[in-house]
Amino acid sequence: MDTLSAMVQFGHEQVAMYSDPATGLRGIIAIHDTTLGPSCGGTRMWPYATEADAVADALRLSQAMTYKAAAAGVHLGGGKGVIIGDPRTDKSEALLRSWGRFVDTLGGRYLTTTDVGTTGRDLEAVRQETRHVVGLDVTLGGSGDTSIMTGLGIYMGIKACAADVWGDDSLRGRTVAMQGFGKVATRTAEHLLEEDARVIAADINPAALARARSMGVQVAGVDEIHALDCDIFAPCALGGVINHKTVGQLRCRIVAGGANNQLATPEDGELLHRKGITYAPDFLINAGGLINAAAEIGQPYDPARARQQTERIYEQMAEVLVTSRAGEISTARAADRLAESRLDSVRQVRGVYRR
Ligand code: NAD
Repeated sequence: MDTLSAMVQFGHEQVAMYSDPATGLRGIIAIHDTTLGPSCGGTRMWPYATEADAVADALRLSQAMTYKAAAAGVHLGGGKGVIIGDPRTDKSEALLRSWGRFVDTLGGRYLTTTDVGTTGRDLEAVRQETRHVVGLDVTLGGSGDTSIMTGLGIYMGIKACAADVWGDDSLRGRTVAMQGFGKVATRTAEHLLEEDARVIAADINPAALARARSMGVQVAGVDEIHALDCDIFAPCALGGVINHKTVGQLRCRIVAGGANNQLATPEDGELLHRKGITYAPDFLINAGGLINAAAEIGQPYDPARARQQTERIYEQMAEVLVTSRAGEISTARAADRLAESRLDSVRQVRGVYRR
């Protein structure tokens, strides 16, 4: 599908492309929807095989950010930045500053932060060229590492699912299988271990596995983790892991993790529902990082406020479970409706304002 047709189909407002041969930068910014506020989403740097892959990723991820902000009650829209390149070899201060200039051309319609392939340190270079950056280090007046609050929100989402499935939200003695043990999984596991849950993790990176072992986490193979006999399967690495192949192999009661876009297709959410597996919609329970970043916009960053708002993910997940049961629809569909109803109601307000 060509880009404009995809924008029409998925409701994107704008896709901007940028090239700077001097620094080797080739980048894309997708703005999905600014109904609730300026679009916000991290900058992903990845060696995409084709330009079409990069555009598709920017479109998909920016749409997910709209839903995440809407469901979380954050006053931001959905956007995403994508830089085509290998972060290990192609990243330089000049390239990042050039990216900052590109972000600046959008005049605040897009706020950037970190994502896969970019770090808080990279944001410092971007910040030299634009003020439209969130999630800077706390020493620079920002809200810092997003994974701390993301991990807290996922833990809240897991507990709300546990209360629904077992009638008790205690995770003591429950087995959680984590796919990927990076920043978000580590922060989530800290809460789980504190509650005496049993955590098993798989990762392709030996350093991540060493960290897991040092925390008392058991290690399993990357090919088997999703199929382990466990209470909760937590995808915390890549998207698309719940698909027509893996759904049949799951042996858990709950799927709840941090990875974005876990469902390969909307139909996979329906498959989980029919199989009686409770799915915590990814954008609903991994919103803690966005909530944290939003807390620094327009006011001094207050960590207590961000924490309180992140803890509300428990109630939001519980509400989605109630809607799902009452309407006999999947939790994925119920969460979409929650986000869409907020977007629709604010669109009406805008209509009144414009008259
Ligand atoms: P990260 O890079 O720190 O961790 C990802 C981990 O997954 C790495 O350790 C990596 O080695 C591992 N991994 C990659 N492929 C794997 C595979 N096939 N099997 C097992 N492990 C594999 O990234 P993160 O910040 O922890 O983010 C993890 C996920 O959560 C991503 O999908 C990200 O988009 C999403 N997310 C992150 C945040 C945040 O605040 N950082 C917020 C919302 C969503």
